[in-house]
Amino acid sequence: MTSLLQTVSCLDGYDPDALHVDKAREAIRSCLAPVEAAYELGIREALGRVLAQDVVPAINVPAHDNSAMDGYALTHSGGEDEAEYEEIGTALAGRPFDGAVLPGQCVRIMTGAVMPAGADTVVIQEVVRREGERIFVPGGQKRGQNVRSAGEDLKVGVPVLRPGRILRAADLGLVASLGIGRVKVKRRLRVALFATGDELASIGTPLREGEVYDSNRYTLFGMLSRLGVEITDLGVVRDDPQELERALKRASGGADVVITTGGVSVGEADFVKQLMAKLGEVLFWKIAMRPGRPMAFGKIGNAFLFGLPGNPVAVMVTFYQFVREALLHLAGAVDATPPMASAIAAENLRKVPGRTEYQRGILYRERDEWRVRTTGQQGSGVLRSMSEANCFIVLEHERAKVAAGERVQVQPFEGLV
Ligand code: AMP
Ligand code: MG
Repeated sequence: MTSLLQTVSCLDGYDPDALHVDKAREAIRSCLAPVEAAYELGIREALGRVLAQDVVPAINVPAHDNSAMDGYALTHSGGEDEAEYEEIGTALAGRPFDGAVLPGQCVRIMTGAVMPAGADTVVIQEVVRREGERIFVPGGQKRGQNVRSAGEDLKVGVPVLRPGRILRAADLGLVASLGIGRVKVKRRLRVALFATGDELASIGTPLREGEVYDSNRYTLFGMLSRLGVEITDLGVVRDDPQELERALKRASGGADVVITTGGVSVGEADFVKQLMAKLGEVLFWKIAMRPGRPMAFGKIGNAFLFGLPGNPVAVMVTFYQFVREALLHLAGAVDATPPMASAIAAENLRKVPGRTEYQRGILYRERDEWRVRTTGQQGSGVLRSMSEANCFIVLEHERAKVAAGERVQVQPFEGLV
């Protein structure tokens, strides 16, 4: 089997001591293969899951030509002048008109009702004039107007959803519109996590001098929950080789992915690295980014390992820039790249070339323009910056400082659907 190192060292520009973020993403990607196992679920349960089949319509949607408006179904006269029609019946949604429409005749029709045989056009009720059973239609009507054709939404035999699709609300409706109640989805990923650090106190215990409450396991819980993975939280592990070894073994035993925080920076007790390296194959990277420079990526047994930095903001940034995409890819999702938009910097931004920065920003609309400012203090320990932000301001590798008024890239935190 090819080792991770062999795989990633083939990539152009692979330098573990100054790894470009794109290269890190590519390196991770080159090592991952999506999980295979899949099973059927009811469509409601399938929301947010990764589709593992093609969805191919066995029926047209709509199944019949039908009216898009309330009005009169008729055969277009072909003429340009006002024309007179005799009303011969009614078509309601779910209650078709039984019979055919001849030239000079029309059927009162409601939205969604099947077009009667012979009719090709619907004239909206607001424009017609009626005298008893006689209906007068003004000139200027277009043949075929206000008619929805059979199959205009979904066509028999033309796949509408492909494997790898993360199912959203519209997709559930789409599948339901085909009369399909169950779909095959990929199994959930199993992710185990723990935080490392002698200074970490758990909620419920008083804080002693030099301690901080562990927050990383909670942000990780939040981020992972949103991705719909199964989470095993192994708690806080001391900076102790034996404890760490036990935790790593336990975590990697049943998981697809192990995520740890802390203990991977330069100057950390070397045993963390030695240990990870002893139990599997782990690459230690200094990524050219801020925050989040040190990160470990590797494999222990069958589990991929992400050794994230300890600083709370760095945890979130490395998660969103690397782990999220990796998890989605492993889960079988295609198209996991988050959208990027552009906005006007509302203030000067400090930046040095040679690393990608993920500043925490607040995107807002002013005078018809999207502008972005930072949340203020950008230290990698200032978790408040992530809480206040609604986007990352992504300052590219080569970029130097930004002057107010320049355009910058932003990655919004929330999508609509
Ligand atoms: P490390 O990467 O282990 O050197 O940690 C870097 C910084 O992040 C230190 O100030 C730690 O106290 C802090 N830190 C590490 N783990 C956590 C955690 N789970 N929750 C909050 N802060 C943490
Ligand atoms: Mg530490």
